Amino acid sequence: MSKEISLLTRENAQQQDLQDEFYPYREEFYLQPGVIYLDGNSLGLMSKRAELKVAELMESWKTYGIEGWTKGEYAWFFLSEKLGEMCAPLVGALSEEVIVSGSTTSNIHQLISTFYKPKGNRTKIVADELTFPSDIYALQSQLKLRGYDPAEHLIQVKSRDGKVILEEDIIAAMTEEVALIFLPTVLYRSGQLLDIQRLTAEAHARGICIGFDACHSIGAIPHTFSDWGVDFAVWCNYKYLNGGPGSVAGMYMNKKHFGIQPGLAGWYSSKKDKQFDMEHTLHVEESAGALQSGTPHVLSLAPIIGSLEIFAEVGIEKVRQKSLHITQYMTDLINQELSGLGFTIGNPSEDARRGGHISLEHDEAVRICKSLVENRIIPDFRPPNIIRLSPIAFYTSYEEVWQTIQTIKTIVTEKHYEKFDNKRNVVS
Ligand SMILES: *Cc1c(COP(=O)(O)O)cnc(C)c1O
Repeated sequence: MSKEISLLTRENAQQQDLQDEFYPYREEFYLQPGVIYLDGNSLGLMSKRAELKVAELMESWKTYGIEGWTKGEYAWFFLSEKLGEMCAPLVGALSEEVIVSGSTTSNIHQLISTFYKPKGNRTKIVADELTFPSDIYALQSQLKLRGYDPAEHLIQVKSRDGKVILEEDIIAAMTEEVALIFLPTVLYRSGQLLDIQRLTAEAHARGICIGFDACHSIGAIPHTFSDWGVDFAVWCNYKYLNGGPGSVAGMYMNKKHFGIQPGLAGWYSSKKDKQFDMEHTLHVEESAGALQSGTPHVLSLAPIIGSLEIFAEVGIEKVRQKSLHITQYMTDLINQELSGLGFTIGNPSEDARRGGHISLEHDEAVRICKSLVENRIIPDFRPPNIIRLSPIAFYTSYEEVWQTIQTIKTIVTEKHYEKFDNKRNVVS
């Protein structure tokens, strides 16, 4: 093939959009005219169905008052369980193994306080040095609550290149002193997808409990938590899952642990038929529902209902196929258009090792991001030098990806970024 024929053009992008079965879903989301939104890995856009469900749940409050706990299509008392059931196919779990409750960080506290059982010499927790800070703060404070010094008891597996964590390095850290392992499924900066099946098998072969933070994979990547025997997992619903800012988060617990006492118990940890007996002895629910503490945030659960309906329609396998295809397309365009301009692609290139975003590195990343925003293209910046670009299966078009890479090329070749200061914004 000659160079000309293989060139990726705007026409070629438009052709791909015409053939894309996801293209009609753009209508389902509130895309703003003139804006290319590539930050769905940080906060997914609002869908019309999510908006409708919020209105419906407001209406149920208006209509039913207190009776809304048990009346209406979405009886509030069972809503966290219902959403757990809707979420289960996305994480590869049984309905009873999933509950939608709490926030990511409070759920990490719940799960670590439930599953961290130091005994004898097994007192250490293994994490990694590239994970999200909130996860580390939670682990450190959980260790302190048990009287352990995090400097000694929290092992953060090192990265050899500052981008990815090698599975063999994690496995090497699985010593007889380790009680628990907590890792991200996808690293939030480089987008590396860890080999969850292998790590779970290796941990279990050594008698170690293992859990994952799936914030950066839920809604982009299928999971097989139950069959692989993952002990527990946590995730937020506002990134790829489009559940809205601060929407209620999710938890998974393998059925082999049903009946376990939750570390942070409350009346919602109770068997549902016993809860209103108001006894002072907790009868723990024998499902992931036991991981709840208190009254569900009904209005922040509402948008997730609408969003999960969209995922159920298409299926997560297809979402992943589209995501892999459009991120590969973006990679090819970067290689075609941006070579020699100081860019490096920081995410792994193999399909089995990458998540849903492209991690584009450049020494001027902060200023390039500001210039992109001025051009109404929304990426996000992660220190020290990363521009994260996430084309979302449901609402990013191939033509928008083409336009984005052209704009980055212009910003850098014409040095438009120089008019901005080199300081990140408060929220980036
Ligand atoms: C987004 C994200 C969080 C955020 O936690 P919140 O409690 O929702 O603020 C935590 N950990 C990881 C890995 C994340 O990607």
